[in-house]
Amino acid sequence: MIVEEARGIFSVPHSAAEGKNVIVLGQKAAVAIDVGAYPEEGRQMADFIRERGYTPNRVIITHGHRDHILGGEDFLGADVYGPRKTVEEIQRQIPGLAKQMGLSEEQIDARILHPTITFENQLWIDLGNRQLHLFPTPGHSPDIVSVYISDCRLLVASDTVVTGIVPAIFHSSAALEASIQRLRQLDIETLIPGHGPVLHGQAVVRDWLNWTSSYIGGVRSAVRSMIAAGERDRAAILASISYDEHVGGRLPVHKHGMPKRHRNAVGKIADEEMTAKCCGWA
Ligand SMILES: [Zn+2]
Repeated sequence: MIVEEARGIFSVPHSAAEGKNVIVLGQKAAVAIDVGAYPEEGRQMADFIRERGYTPNRVIITHGHRDHILGGEDFLGADVYGPRKTVEEIQRQIPGLAKQMGLSEEQIDARILHPTITFENQLWIDLGNRQLHLFPTPGHSPDIVSVYISDCRLLVASDTVVTGIVPAIFHSSAALEASIQRLRQLDIETLIPGHGPVLHGQAVVRDWLNWTSSYIGGVRSAVRSMIAAGERDRAAILASISYDEHVGGRLPVHKHGMPKRHRNAVGKIADEEMTAKCCGWA
């Protein structure tokens, strides 16, 4: 169900782990933020934009992961705003996606919504009565950006902040912590995450940002103490940094392969710590 989360800003659910795309309506134009993984997911966004009297000709891609870029068939030919790094990120992923989906690289390439208007550090998009501020929040991936809309103090966090799954760290846990620290400086009344329930209310938003960074920090210090105590077996580290202790009731354990997502986060942080110490795994 498409939900109006703040005046003229709508969350649009998609199929990947309670995924959320977004539509922003302004005086001059409407903008879709991410398009999901399947053409029908982007299509419901384009249809909604048309129903509201706009043309579906502007899209923001927050980063180059499949569940954000593959549903854009109905937006082909639109202005696609995206970080410059996303262009490289997409190229890097095409061979893997082709294999996963049993299609040729050309077929995958044709389905992807490629950024046509790229930027390095930040970008402002002016919709007349409101401005969208795009800025980097790396950590989940190297290329990812968040979108802040100050007139209603709303943050589209993409996968930098997820509320329905354990944080997925493909790039760097330290970068992700720094990005969350940056988000904590913003005045946020509503936060639309990349996956999971939308958060309303400053206190609720603050609490979730705090929990996310304490989860990452907590896992890292547990990893560090084990390494400091001489542990060199990755599997032993994965087994002893438990879901119950570090996630517990914060997220529903039975959904979205949650314990595996926790193990992935622990594994990534353990790898980072072992590389930092230049000793590698036994
Ligand atoms: Zn992602």
